[in-house]
Amino acid sequence: MVSRTIPVDPFDLVLFGATGDLARRKILPSLYRRFLAGQMPEEARVIGAARSELSDDDFRDLVREALKEFVSEKAFDADTVETFVERCSYIAVDAKDDACWQQLKSMIRDDVIKAFYFSVAPSIFGPLAERLRDHGIACENSRLIVEKPFGTDLETARKLNDKLATSFGESQIYRIDHFLGKETVQNLMAVRFANVLFEPLWNERFIDHVQITVAETVGVGGRGSYYDTSGAMRDMVQNHLMQLLCLIAMEPPNQFEADRLRDEKLKVIRALDPIPPEDIVRGQYKASKENPSYAEDAENPDSLTESFIALKVGISNWRWKHTPFYLRTGKRMARRMSEIVVQFKETPHSIFDRDGASRANSLTIRLQPDEGMDLSLTIKEPGPGGMRLVNMPLDMSFADALGPRGGEIPDAYERLIMDVIRGDQTLFMRGDEVEAAWSWTDPVIAGWEERGDKPHPYSQGTSGPEAALMLMHRDGRRWRDLET
Ligand code: NAP
Repeated sequence: MVSRTIPVDPFDLVLFGATGDLARRKILPSLYRRFLAGQMPEEARVIGAARSELSDDDFRDLVREALKEFVSEKAFDADTVETFVERCSYIAVDAKDDACWQQLKSMIRDDVIKAFYFSVAPSIFGPLAERLRDHGIACENSRLIVEKPFGTDLETARKLNDKLATSFGESQIYRIDHFLGKETVQNLMAVRFANVLFEPLWNERFIDHVQITVAETVGVGGRGSYYDTSGAMRDMVQNHLMQLLCLIAMEPPNQFEADRLRDEKLKVIRALDPIPPEDIVRGQYKASKENPSYAEDAENPDSLTESFIALKVGISNWRWKHTPFYLRTGKRMARRMSEIVVQFKETPHSIFDRDGASRANSLTIRLQPDEGMDLSLTIKEPGPGGMRLVNMPLDMSFADALGPRGGEIPDAYERLIMDVIRGDQTLFMRGDEVEAAWSWTDPVIAGWEERGDKPHPYSQGTSGPEAALMLMHRDGRRWRDLET
């Protein structure tokens, strides 16, 4: 099955932070791939902006290098790369200085969509927005893309929202959470709301629990000092895991439309219970033979920051009252794996002799690696010899089934940037949603800070601290195995 590509309207995208890591690794390669696919039109332009003094040619070299490094061999077409690079230019501007902004203004065309991508540190989101306004560059229908982290707590998120609101309306702001751009995440909504099969079962009567895991094998490495001020709760739970939880838990919006969907997500966040201390397990990785410990990576021997967290989260509404959501995320774990497991309850009564097969179905939604879903069903083991039951997954790998470029699924950033140009905010976080997420997160963090809780040490290459396994064991449940 090959996906259809509908070109977007011509645009000028000003990429602030164009010399940075994210621009080189994700944003420029994503734009190129959309150009290769015919979705980014010939008339579109990318204007790189940062403080470094680069000529257009220097920047084009940077783009070529980035594409060489971060685009797969299969997608790297030398002629297309050159055509794409011709559409790139550069201007040196400093967010904290007024020089050269009029020159930037003269580079942007009036008759195309204008988008500004803030791929810079959050501390300069405000100054950039103000200069775009003061120099008359941002106008009513220009769009602003902002990267995470969106604040470090409720107060900073509010201030940031207020700052951006002085130059841009909410309908112009696209707050990125790249998890929402993943094909599987969108498919989760399709599975829930475009099939009659699941919705009647999608509640506390039939679902025993939900578990969401985002495990990484990397440590905090080069960004240790930043990470040490953040930790897994702020870096991953408040945004990515929270968004996944919302998509599983929300009521069906009456239309697949940005504000209706975001209204439903907001209701879920507002219904989250406060978390008691016994439902929180924080961890910090120890040194291994190959790698330093978290504290060494963070260059802070006394650090109390968590590189791992597991939580049991309750939702106080009719649909979910007795169905816990278990969340866990961590660094230096056994496997790089992000998945959601919706664990259904057992059948109320078995007419078969028990022979070890579980009588509970589960729906697994894999975000990475190998994006896809599987539904575990209990079936009869083939062959004679009585009624022996086995659990079999009904497996759908999206790359095999749907891959539009011979198995290569578009990166989340490709989808999200094109959505911005189309003016579709469905997969972006609204300001009140982000603030509500911080309102829930802040007291949890304040609680462990007040108690002086120390994270549990855990060995690298494992599933995290033993206490995290116990968080489920004590409820008679278990996490999906990470170590096999
Ligand atoms: P980075 O590598 O440090 O790049 C920062 C960019 O900002 C550089 O291009 C820098 O260029 C420019 N810059 C710095 N100060 C500036 C100023 N005063 N005026 C104009 N430009 C300025 O950072 P990054 O890793 O690309 O991250 C960018 C944003 O994305 C951050 O908000 C980060 O949290 C977020 N993010 C990054 C990743 C990732 O994987 N890297 C993932 C998710 C989110 P000059 O020094 O030339 O000015």
